[in-house]
Amino acid sequence: MTGTRVLVLNSGSSSVKYQLLDMSDSSRLAQGLVERIGEQTSRLKHTPLATAESRERSGPIHDHDAALKAVAEELAQDGLGLDSPELAAIGHRVVHGGKHFTEPTVIDDAVLAEIERLIPVAPLHNPANLTGIRTARALRPDLPQVAVFDTAFHTTMPESAARYAIDVKTADEHRIRRYGFHGTSHAYVSRATAGLLGRAPEEVNVIVLHLGNGASASAVRGGKCVDTSMGLTPLEGLVMGTRSGDTDPAVIFHLARVGGMSIDEIDTLLNKKSGLIGLCGDNDMREIRRRVDEGDEQAKLAFDIYIHRLKKYIGAYYAVLGRVDAVVFTAGVGENAAPVRAAAVAGLETLGLAVDDELNAVRGDEPRLISPAGARVKVAVVPTDEELEIATQTYALVERNGYAAPPQGN
Ligand code: ADP
Repeated sequence: MTGTRVLVLNSGSSSVKYQLLDMSDSSRLAQGLVERIGEQTSRLKHTPLATAESRERSGPIHDHDAALKAVAEELAQDGLGLDSPELAAIGHRVVHGGKHFTEPTVIDDAVLAEIERLIPVAPLHNPANLTGIRTARALRPDLPQVAVFDTAFHTTMPESAARYAIDVKTADEHRIRRYGFHGTSHAYVSRATAGLLGRAPEEVNVIVLHLGNGASASAVRGGKCVDTSMGLTPLEGLVMGTRSGDTDPAVIFHLARVGGMSIDEIDTLLNKKSGLIGLCGDNDMREIRRRVDEGDEQAKLAFDIYIHRLKKYIGAYYAVLGRVDAVVFTAGVGENAAPVRAAAVAGLETLGLAVDDELNAVRGDEPRLISPAGARVKVAVVPTDEELEIATQTYALVERNGYAAPPQGN
């Protein structure tokens, strides 16, 4: 069996996002989303890319097993059934791979057990990812399933960047270190940026700014990550849609001791009610820009704080890398918000950084340069494609290792 299709699954606690790709030409065959699994109001939206006409189902989908079966039915309706010999593998996005999963990995019982062991450092994500994997393995036990970890690209960070300056024994006992996330995106975008520059990834140093609802920056030297802004969890670093990013850790003690808040309340505050939404009540950059343009002071302050933090990370990673060939913007905000890109590099001309206003205003889905012609450091927009990267890594591994699934225990 040597099919060329890969199903990519991104399983959340109450949702499953999926894409079916054909790796003979990296084309997308279908994509979709199951939401509100376990509720009465579940919804499945499925789009076969041949017609691009979406179909929707609503009504209760009780669990991930039912969700995946519903996805399989939709795919079968398009002649893309999961029982097809064309399907070579299933690639799973797994958020936390800890220190040891440095590469995509064929899932066997031992790998499952290790992902489970990492639950204490990824309590929100890994259990949902595991459920998705178990369900898919039960559905097609004969098929190789591959875990692609959000943390893997960052495992090349040197200890000087990966360690917090806290007591070593305590840190090691609790596996506290900087893992970083969005690694699949940083890997894809840094490599695509080298391609845009017409150079090999090994030759270029890139600062990647992944600005979505979650946001992270990374410093990539010769194709390898040497620093990234997210840490033990995705809370550290840039100002995000709903996360604070960097704060003095003593804010937490203060909120507990003086504010009387519980640890769970503080967790919710910093992860869900801070960042842009906490600063101005909106986390959508389009809405924030609209308000700024109307003279809204609160939105302006939120935007300025967002940009100030971004600029600090550009400067920090410039210093970490020493030589920078490109600064690249990606994800929802990075790909679409020209004012964010312009403001982030404004005033950095002495570092060789500038954007050309006309190029910056161009919209499009293709990787593109937005720095002035002849600029020493290129500024680029490179749309991210995490699903394609997961499928590419999954397929490469299956081609290398063979198309058979490892045996499953109980
Ligand atoms: P995530 O994958 O983290 O949920 P995305 O990468 O899809 O997020 O980014 C979503 C964010 O992108 C939205 O919250 C919004 O702030 C921003 N965004 C999307 N489209 C635009 C646009 N046209 N202009 C400005 N910001 C945009």
